[in-house]
Amino acid sequence: MAVVQLTPRVWQLKLNLVNCYLLETEDGLLLIDTGYPNSADKRFAAVRESGHDPALIRHLLLTHCHIDHGGSAAEVQRRTGARTYAHALDAPLIGQGIAERPGTTRTPGLVNRLVYLFFIKYAGTTYDPLPVDEPLAHGQVLPLAGGLEVIHSPGHSAGHLCLLLRSEGLLIAGDICSHVMGLKYSTINEDRTLARQSILRVAEYPFERAAFGHGDALTERANQQLKEAFAAS
Ligand SMILES: [Zn+2]
Ligand SMILES: [Zn+2]
Repeated sequence: MAVVQLTPRVWQLKLNLVNCYLLETEDGLLLIDTGYPNSADKRFAAVRESGHDPALIRHLLLTHCHIDHGGSAAEVQRRTGARTYAHALDAPLIGQGIAERPGTTRTPGLVNRLVYLFFIKYAGTTYDPLPVDEPLAHGQVLPLAGGLEVIHSPGHSAGHLCLLLRSEGLLIAGDICSHVMGLKYSTINEDRTLARQSILRVAEYPFERAAFGHGDALTERANQQLKEAFAAS
Protein backbone atom coordinates (compact mmCIF):
# COMPACT_ATOMS: atom_id res chain seq x y z
CA MET A 1 0.00 0.00 0.00
CA ALA A 2 1.25 3.42 -0.80
CA VAL A 3 -0.19 6.86 -0.69
CA VAL A 4 1.02 9.65 -2.99
CA GLN A 5 -0.21 13.23 -2.87
CA LEU A 6 -0.51 14.38 -6.50
CA THR A 7 -1.82 17.93 -6.09
CA PRO A 8 -2.96 20.12 -3.18
CA ARG A 9 -6.30 18.32 -3.02
CA VAL A 10 -5.74 14.91 -4.68
CA TRP A 11 -4.22 11.73 -3.23
CA GLN A 12 -3.44 8.49 -5.04
CA LEU A 13 -4.17 5.35 -2.98
CA LYS A 14 -2.31 2.33 -4.41
CA LEU A 15 -3.33 -1.18 -3.43
CA ASN A 16 -3.08 -4.54 -5.22
CA LEU A 17 -1.96 -2.86 -8.44
CA VAL A 18 -5.10 -0.70 -8.52
CA ASN A 19 -5.08 3.03 -7.88
CA CYS A 20 -8.01 4.84 -6.32
CA TYR A 21 -8.13 8.60 -5.86
CA LEU A 22 -9.21 10.72 -2.92
CA LEU A 23 -10.20 14.35 -3.43
CA GLU A 24 -10.91 17.00 -0.84
CA THR A 25 -14.09 18.79 -1.87
CA GLU A 26 -16.30 21.55 -0.55
CA ASP A 27 -18.57 18.79 0.78
CA GLY A 28 -16.40 16.16 2.41
CA LEU A 29 -14.27 13.65 0.53
CA LEU A 30 -14.75 12.17 -2.93
CA LEU A 31 -13.42 8.65 -3.52
CA ILE A 32 -12.88 7.67 -7.14
CA ASP A 33 -12.93 3.87 -7.66
CA THR A 34 -12.67 1.25 -4.91
CA GLY A 35 -10.55 -1.75 -5.98
CA TYR A 36 -11.31 -5.48 -5.95
CA PRO A 37 -13.98 -7.02 -3.72
CA ASN A 38 -13.16 -7.21 0.00
CA SER A 39 -10.56 -4.45 -0.17
CA ALA A 40 -12.51 -1.67 1.60
CA ASP A 41 -10.67 -2.12 4.92
CA LYS A 42 -7.26 -1.73 3.32
CA ARG A 43 -8.44 1.17 1.17
CA PHE A 44 -9.83 2.92 4.25
CA ALA A 45 -6.45 2.38 5.93
CA ALA A 46 -4.89 4.17 2.94
CA VAL A 47 -7.40 7.01 3.34
CA ARG A 48 -6.29 7.34 6.98
CA GLU A 49 -2.65 7.20 5.91
CA SER A 50 -3.35 10.17 3.65
CA GLY A 51 -4.45 12.09 6.74
CA HIS A 52 -8.21 11.81 6.18
CA ASP A 53 -11.12 10.17 7.97
CA PRO A 54 -12.96 7.60 5.78
CA ALA A 55 -16.18 8.51 7.59
CA LEU A 56 -16.01 11.84 5.73
CA ILE A 57 -16.35 10.18 2.28
CA ARG A 58 -19.56 11.79 0.98
CA HIS A 59 -19.18 11.03 -2.73
CA LEU A 60 -18.21 7.81 -4.49
CA LEU A 61 -17.57 7.83 -8.24
CA LEU A 62 -16.65 4.88 -10.47
CA THR A 63 -14.74 5.50 -13.70
CA HIS A 64 -16.26 2.31 -15.16
CA CYS A 65 -17.86 -1.03 -14.31
CA HIS A 66 -14.84 -3.39 -14.03
CA ILE A 67 -14.33 -5.48 -10.91
CA ASP A 68 -10.99 -3.90 -9.96
CA HIS A 69 -12.76 -0.51 -9.74
CA GLY A 70 -16.27 -1.36 -8.59
CA GLY A 71 -15.54 -4.51 -6.56
CA SER A 72 -15.68 -2.87 -3.12
CA ALA A 73 -18.02 -0.01 -4.04
CA ALA A 74 -21.12 -1.41 -2.34
CA GLU A 75 -19.19 -1.94 0.89
CA VAL A 76 -17.70 1.57 0.79
CA GLN A 77 -21.18 2.99 0.21
CA ARG A 78 -22.71 0.95 3.04
CA ARG A 79 -20.05 2.12 5.46
CA THR A 80 -20.11 5.81 4.48
CA GLY A 81 -23.55 6.54 3.06
CA ALA A 82 -21.84 8.27 0.13
CA ARG A 83 -23.75 9.54 -2.91
CA THR A 84 -22.78 7.42 -5.93
CA TYR A 85 -21.90 8.40 -9.49
CA ALA A 86 -20.99 6.64 -12.75
CA HIS A 87 -21.51 7.23 -16.45
CA ALA A 88 -25.08 6.49 -17.56
CA LEU A 89 -23.95 3.65 -19.86
CA ASP A 90 -22.07 1.71 -17.15
CA ALA A 91 -24.48 2.57 -14.31
CA PRO A 92 -26.91 -0.29 -15.15
CA LEU A 93 -24.08 -2.86 -15.03
CA ILE A 94 -22.73 -1.45 -11.76
CA GLY A 95 -26.29 -1.54 -10.42
CA GLN A 96 -26.37 -5.29 -11.12
CA GLY A 97 -22.75 -5.99 -10.11
CA ILE A 98 -21.79 -7.09 -13.63
CA ALA A 99 -18.07 -6.60 -14.10
CA GLU A 100 -17.75 -6.86 -17.87
CA ARG A 101 -19.85 -6.52 -21.02
CA PRO A 102 -19.95 -9.52 -23.34
CA GLY A 103 -17.50 -8.95 -26.18
CA THR A 104 -14.71 -7.58 -23.98
CA THR A 105 -11.43 -8.88 -25.38
CA ARG A 106 -7.83 -9.17 -24.21
CA THR A 107 -5.10 -7.08 -25.82
CA PRO A 108 -2.48 -9.34 -27.49
CA GLY A 109 0.90 -10.01 -25.85
CA LEU A 110 2.36 -12.17 -23.07
CA VAL A 111 2.13 -9.56 -20.31
CA ASN A 112 -1.53 -8.92 -21.08
CA ARG A 113 -2.16 -12.64 -21.06
CA LEU A 114 -0.59 -13.03 -17.61
CA VAL A 115 -2.35 -9.96 -16.17
CA TYR A 116 -5.61 -11.27 -17.56
CA LEU A 117 -5.16 -14.76 -16.10
CA PHE A 118 -3.94 -13.79 -12.65
CA PHE A 119 -5.85 -10.58 -11.95
CA ILE A 120 -8.88 -10.18 -14.18
CA LYS A 121 -10.15 -13.69 -14.87
CA TYR A 122 -9.20 -14.79 -11.37
CA ALA A 123 -11.28 -12.00 -9.81
CA GLY A 124 -14.53 -13.28 -11.36
CA THR A 125 -17.31 -11.58 -13.27
CA THR A 126 -19.64 -10.28 -10.57
CA TYR A 127 -19.48 -8.16 -7.42
CA ASP A 128 -21.91 -6.68 -4.90
CA PRO A 129 -24.27 -4.43 -6.87
CA LEU A 130 -24.05 -0.68 -6.28
CA PRO A 131 -27.12 1.43 -7.07
CA VAL A 132 -25.92 4.57 -8.88
CA ASP A 133 -27.60 7.72 -7.53
CA GLU A 134 -26.40 10.03 -10.30
CA PRO A 135 -25.81 8.73 -13.84
CA LEU A 136 -23.32 11.06 -15.53
CA ALA A 137 -23.07 12.45 -19.08
CA HIS A 138 -20.20 13.85 -21.14
CA GLY A 139 -19.46 17.51 -20.47
CA GLN A 140 -21.17 17.59 -17.11
CA VAL A 141 -19.21 19.56 -14.51
CA LEU A 142 -19.67 18.26 -10.98
CA PRO A 143 -19.61 21.03 -8.36
CA LEU A 144 -16.84 19.28 -6.45
CA ALA A 145 -13.23 20.29 -5.89
CA GLY A 146 -13.82 23.57 -7.71
CA GLY A 147 -15.37 21.82 -10.74
CA LEU A 148 -14.78 18.28 -11.95
CA GLU A 149 -15.51 17.79 -15.65
CA VAL A 150 -16.82 14.47 -16.96
CA ILE A 151 -15.20 13.31 -20.23
CA HIS A 152 -16.93 10.28 -21.72
CA SER A 153 -14.14 8.09 -23.13
CA PRO A 154 -15.61 4.81 -24.41
CA GLY A 155 -13.64 1.84 -25.72
CA HIS A 156 -12.24 0.24 -22.57
CA SER A 157 -15.91 0.05 -21.59
CA ALA A 158 -18.87 1.82 -23.21
CA GLY A 159 -19.42 3.96 -20.14
CA HIS A 160 -15.81 4.69 -19.26
CA LEU A 161 -15.18 8.25 -18.13
CA CYS A 162 -12.21 10.43 -17.32
CA LEU A 163 -12.35 13.38 -14.94
CA LEU A 164 -10.65 16.70 -15.55
CA LEU A 165 -9.75 18.83 -12.57
CA ARG A 166 -8.96 22.01 -14.48
CA SER A 167 -7.98 24.01 -11.39
CA GLU A 168 -5.06 21.63 -10.78
CA GLY A 169 -4.25 20.64 -14.38
CA LEU A 170 -4.93 16.99 -13.57
CA LEU A 171 -6.70 14.29 -15.57
CA ILE A 172 -7.94 11.27 -13.65
CA ALA A 173 -7.79 8.92 -16.58
CA GLY A 174 -9.19 5.64 -15.20
CA ASP A 175 -8.31 2.77 -17.54
CA ILE A 176 -8.34 4.77 -20.76
CA CYS A 177 -4.87 3.22 -21.05
CA SER A 178 -2.37 1.85 -18.54
CA HIS A 179 0.97 3.26 -17.38
CA VAL A 180 2.52 0.19 -15.79
CA MET A 181 5.31 -0.39 -18.32
CA GLY A 182 5.09 2.79 -20.33
CA LEU A 183 1.84 4.04 -21.83
CA LYS A 184 0.06 0.99 -23.26
CA TYR A 185 -3.42 -0.10 -24.15
CA SER A 186 -5.31 -1.50 -21.20
CA THR A 187 -5.21 -5.30 -20.87
CA ILE A 188 -8.86 -5.61 -21.85
CA ASN A 189 -11.10 -3.44 -24.03
CA GLU A 190 -14.58 -3.65 -25.47
CA ASP A 191 -13.36 -1.83 -28.59
CA ARG A 192 -9.65 -1.01 -28.89
CA THR A 193 -10.09 1.20 -31.98
CA LEU A 194 -12.62 3.28 -30.09
CA ALA A 195 -10.33 3.33 -27.04
CA ARG A 196 -7.56 4.83 -29.19
CA GLN A 197 -9.91 7.49 -30.54
CA SER A 198 -10.95 8.33 -26.98
CA ILE A 199 -7.32 8.63 -25.82
CA LEU A 200 -6.49 11.04 -28.65
CA ARG A 201 -9.65 13.07 -28.04
CA VAL A 202 -9.02 13.28 -24.30
CA ALA A 203 -5.41 14.36 -25.03
CA GLU A 204 -6.81 17.56 -26.60
CA TYR A 205 -7.89 18.79 -23.16
CA PRO A 206 -5.56 21.00 -21.14
CA PHE A 207 -3.78 19.01 -18.40
CA GLU A 208 -0.18 18.73 -17.29
CA ARG A 209 -0.60 15.60 -15.13
CA ALA A 210 -2.53 12.39 -15.64
CA ALA A 211 -3.29 9.68 -13.09
CA PHE A 212 -4.27 6.15 -14.09
CA GLY A 213 -6.09 3.17 -12.64
CA HIS A 214 -2.90 1.16 -13.08
CA GLY A 215 0.65 2.47 -12.84
CA ASP A 216 2.26 5.74 -11.84
CA ALA A 217 0.96 9.18 -12.70
CA LEU A 218 2.48 11.31 -15.45
CA THR A 219 3.66 14.52 -13.84
CA GLU A 220 4.45 16.71 -16.84
CA ARG A 221 3.28 17.21 -20.42
CA ALA A 222 0.78 14.42 -19.85
CA ASN A 223 -1.57 15.30 -22.71
CA GLN A 224 1.39 15.55 -25.12
CA GLN A 225 2.79 12.23 -23.90
CA LEU A 226 -0.56 10.53 -24.54
CA LYS A 227 -0.67 11.96 -28.06
CA GLU A 228 2.86 10.83 -28.78
CA ALA A 229 2.29 7.32 -27.39
CA PHE A 230 -0.91 6.57 -29.28
CA ALA A 231 -0.73 8.73 -32.43
CA ALA A 232 0.92 5.99 -34.45
CA SER A 233 -0.23 2.84 -32.68
ZN1 LIG B 1 -10.98 -1.52 -16.45
ZN1 LIG C 1 -8.62 -1.40 -14.01
